[in-house]
Amino acid sequence: MKTKRFIYILAGVMLIASLIIGCAGGGRARTGVFTGSAIGHGGTIIVEVAVDSGNIISIDVIQHSETPFFYERPFERVISAAVNDGNLNVDNVTGATLSTMGIRAAIADALSDARINTRRMMLPRPAHTARNIQMAADVVVVGGGGAGLAAAVTASQLGASVIVVEKMSMLGGNTIIAGGAINIVNPELQRRIGIQDSIDLHFRHTFDGGGQLANPELVRIMVENALDGKNWLSSLGLVWEEQVSTAIGALHPRSHNPVMPIGTGYIDAYQRFIARPNSNIQVLLDTRATEFVMQGGRVTGVRATNRLGDSFTLTASRGVINAAGGFGSNVEMRMRYDELWDGRLDHRIQTTNHPGATGEGIAMAQAIGAAVVDMGFIQLLPIGDPRTGSLSGVLSIMVEDYIQVNEQGRRYVAEDARRDVLVASTFAQTNSAMYLILDSRLFPIGNESTVFGDTVNSLVHYGRAHRANSIPDLARMLGMDPNVLQETVNRYNAMVDGTLQCEFGRGIWRHRIETPPFFANRRVPTIHHTMGGVVIDRYTRVIDVNGNIIPGFYAAGEVTGGIHGNNRLGANALTDILVFGRIAGESAVRGR
Ligand code: ADP
Repeated sequence: MKTKRFIYILAGVMLIASLIIGCAGGGRARTGVFTGSAIGHGGTIIVEVAVDSGNIISIDVIQHSETPFFYERPFERVISAAVNDGNLNVDNVTGATLSTMGIRAAIADALSDARINTRRMMLPRPAHTARNIQMAADVVVVGGGGAGLAAAVTASQLGASVIVVEKMSMLGGNTIIAGGAINIVNPELQRRIGIQDSIDLHFRHTFDGGGQLANPELVRIMVENALDGKNWLSSLGLVWEEQVSTAIGALHPRSHNPVMPIGTGYIDAYQRFIARPNSNIQVLLDTRATEFVMQGGRVTGVRATNRLGDSFTLTASRGVINAAGGFGSNVEMRMRYDELWDGRLDHRIQTTNHPGATGEGIAMAQAIGAAVVDMGFIQLLPIGDPRTGSLSGVLSIMVEDYIQVNEQGRRYVAEDARRDVLVASTFAQTNSAMYLILDSRLFPIGNESTVFGDTVNSLVHYGRAHRANSIPDLARMLGMDPNVLQETVNRYNAMVDGTLQCEFGRGIWRHRIETPPFFANRRVPTIHHTMGGVVIDRYTRVIDVNGNIIPGFYAAGEVTGGIHGNNRLGANALTDILVFGRIAGESAVRGR
């Protein structure tokens, strides 16, 4: 069980005086350290609350199992409100509601032991008087996902002051919940494990894999700068796995993963840089950009509002970077723009995206004349969680590890195909669903972490994966004909052995599926990436509807279009946001 100590100590005695909180029915508040617990998202949260004469002096989280990163903001928000204002009535942190509720309930549990009246702490806080806040920096970045943070850190390294505006309560965007795989041609490492690759091949896969519809100049820049980007991330402290595999839809084994689960390693590296005393990067969380400010034909800043209703005018002397992401979570935009999925992308299809992926960055850029491209190209992924649509709970995202079977236990597609092919063929199966079938080579004990930081044991425990000691038993568990699933696995193994010709044209594998226990993981198509967006040039300068550069305005990441065509390769998104995020940071500082 993970434990992180969070300690907040109340500083001023004067403040203490104003915080005296009424006692719960049973007499005077007690003085001492009181323990409380409650269930959060990941399990039990235990806190110790020090109370003196009815005042909360400090709160110490002594145990929790909340998801890394996702608990930080809720813990900080609830604990600081309790300690500084004697109040527990804070908004739940979007995307971390259960962690917010859990920490609040654990504190309330401790306080009831201290005979403090927590009902009064839930009363509305005094109204906030909205302020007009002016701030200035060399560079203002809208969006604190992977692209925005790569841009911000790069700009800072070049000596610029930076403001990052992020509407959610935490940094990370889609990166922090992505599979974490990134495509990089890395000949030294790939050759060591017998993989042939080249920049040209990565270019070909990307350009052809996107229907030859992308801007080839941008594709070339992406593939050529990927390895440099990886080395840069290493210089920020990111630690990588040695293995290189093929993320689903990546078409070739060049997908690298950080050691930390999912995309947390990238955001952790950026956050550690931002926390350096000399980083000169200021992050405004819970602050939504509403408009890009134009003056004399140049973008000079951003207007924004925060959760308290304060208005911000953020002035950028060198440049504004739009890194506000795509629109996978915006049903109306999906339906309006989709050209690939015949009106299927309404609310019935879920998404892997975080709730902030609502496309505002695109609309705000259009409002000042930016051109958009490829807006009709929306990518789905066939490995979403059937309940939530997210990638969580997946046993593996690497093609080498699994076969995909339908509800009848039959393979129906080359698992190493393009994502649009995988999804269209999954839609054609019963209930538009499929199972990933794996053996236990990846999980010999069951307590090993999946890419999402879950363990197989816990996924089986919660019914999100199935485990059996033989393939026929697994089939029976899933309501399939045991002979059919056994035959499917036998044929796959024969392909791996080279005694049977490739079925469906699959060409990527590593091992036979033969080591018990065996696992099945039900997955469904879910919206993943919006390939369209703002038009940029090689320096990430935003282009307007007349084909001219909009001075002072840059864009990077999923908010842009033209890099992936009509089908993005698996693990190319992180390459895109890393490479173009860095270019945007540099272009803004250098005034390109
Ligand atoms: P990318 O992969 O290109 O970095 P993400 O979706 O991961 O894209 O990150 C974009 C970030 O921008 C998200 O964290 C999202 O919450 C944030 N964002 C989106 N719209 C706004 C806005 N209007 N103001 C501030 N932040 C925004």
